[in-house]
Amino acid sequence: MSAATEHRKVVIIGSGPAGYTAALYTSRAMLEPMLFLGPQVGGQLTITTDVENYPGFPDGIQGPEMVELFRKQAERFGTVCIDGAVKSVDLKARPFVVEAEDRTVTCDTLIIATGATAKYLDAPGIETFKNKGISACATCDGFFFQGQKLAVVGGGDSACEEAMFLTRFASEVHLVHRRDELRASKIMAQRTIDNPKIKMRWNTTIEEAVGDQKLSGLRLKNVETGEVVEEEFGGLFMGIGHVPNTQFLNGQLPTDETGYLKVQPGWTATEVPGVYACGDCMDPFYRQAITAAGTGCAAAIEAERWLEAGGWQGEQAAAG
Ligand code: NAP
Repeated sequence: MSAATEHRKVVIIGSGPAGYTAALYTSRAMLEPMLFLGPQVGGQLTITTDVENYPGFPDGIQGPEMVELFRKQAERFGTVCIDGAVKSVDLKARPFVVEAEDRTVTCDTLIIATGATAKYLDAPGIETFKNKGISACATCDGFFFQGQKLAVVGGGDSACEEAMFLTRFASEVHLVHRRDELRASKIMAQRTIDNPKIKMRWNTTIEEAVGDQKLSGLRLKNVETGEVVEEEFGGLFMGIGHVPNTQFLNGQLPTDETGYLKVQPGWTATEVPGVYACGDCMDPFYRQAITAAGTGCAAAIEAERWLEAGGWQGEQAAAG
């Protein structure tokens, strides 16, 4: 561990709507938070196109632009943003210790807003052709698939969004879903089904990704008939959900079986006093930008009140 370079009352890990909202509120409470931007600055919003369901933007807003506005607003009130990821934290130490790529920081309260990362299918060939025709980000990689026949796997909002975005470049997009009904919100599902460039492949699973140097096709199975066909595809995009980014905590906080952080019911407080979790790393249910911002605000207010009540120093004094 490198020597602690500085101490902060509040450290926030993550730069999505949860992290920036926590930063906005704690900086307006004059707590001068330090925010670690993480490996994907801005989180999932930066790989999203139109955000149409965040109040205040009647014409919608592009995800990356929204993140820039969040950052500007947090910095206006004194948030210090630091590039890079946090490698580990020590929640047994008081103050808490945060190990980042280029510094060690101690803090009185820690707000975890590390979000979630796209999942990849577990099927033969998927790992082999990752970044060689297989991607989890249409916004990042769609441009490289001009005029090609593409597949998207999944039936939620992410899959629909990916499929619709890819119609800009692809000759056709096949949405491969294991059931006969989309999980996506009704409006997204209808737009997807109505899109003439999208072909729905209901009750279908991907058995294998095939190719040589790069992906050239997929073996698709109709789960009703059991029939397996091999079809040519130039690209495959993942839309099968996310895993929470909580591995860096090394089991120091309780999670559910899929890795989402557990908080006290109705709060953002974790089982370690002074440590709060907000946004997609603790929310397996709503997972919206607006709910992430809401829990970011809650975490900031809870952290502020805990500090006001004496923080860990107060708890140690009370314990004698
Ligand atoms: P999701 O809602 O959990 O959907 C995941 C989809 O992938 C489901 O249709 C699921 O099938 C399928 N799936 C999961 N594992 C699979 C596997 N191993 N093989 C084949 N299919 C598999 O995830 P999401 O679409 O990423 O959305 C997450 C949250 O973000 C949601 O709350 C969503 O509303 C939100 N979101 C919102 C927007 C927006 O509003 N613009 C955009 C993106 C995401 P089953 O349906 O059979 O379970």
